[in-house]
Amino acid sequence: MTLFASGTMESLRHLMMLAVMVVLFLLLLPIIIPLVAFLHWRNDARMRRIAAEMHCKRCGQPMGPKAPKLADHAWNREADTIRKQPSIRQRQRVLRSVHAICPNCGLRYRFLEDYGKFVPEVR
Ligand SMILES: [Zn+2]
Repeated sequence: MTLFASGTMESLRHLMMLAVMVVLFLLLLPIIIPLVAFLHWRNDARMRRIAAEMHCKRCGQPMGPKAPKLADHAWNREADTIRKQPSIRQRQRVLRSVHAICPNCGLRYRFLEDYGKFVPEVR
């Protein structure tokens, strides 16, 4: 009987801890959401700046600010095609593989966020 009562108290304590954590999470959401949005914006701006400043590894021409925009358009088209495939029944995570396209020769690049550099896309 004592063991049962102790188990019930422990379960109640775990439930209270969970409730406190949920309330804390909800209270911090007004900080978490803008922080995540800011970090995403900062990483995206960094990627676009690096792309605009680099030269293409194939043709040697400057990539410029147009390179990430070309990749955005290309990726949007490819993602739509992937989503419309009837063979895909399950919801799958599709990782973006192109972040810049050379406006001169069309070489596609993937951005390695951890290294802060672009590498030609492997298809
Ligand atoms: Zn090029």
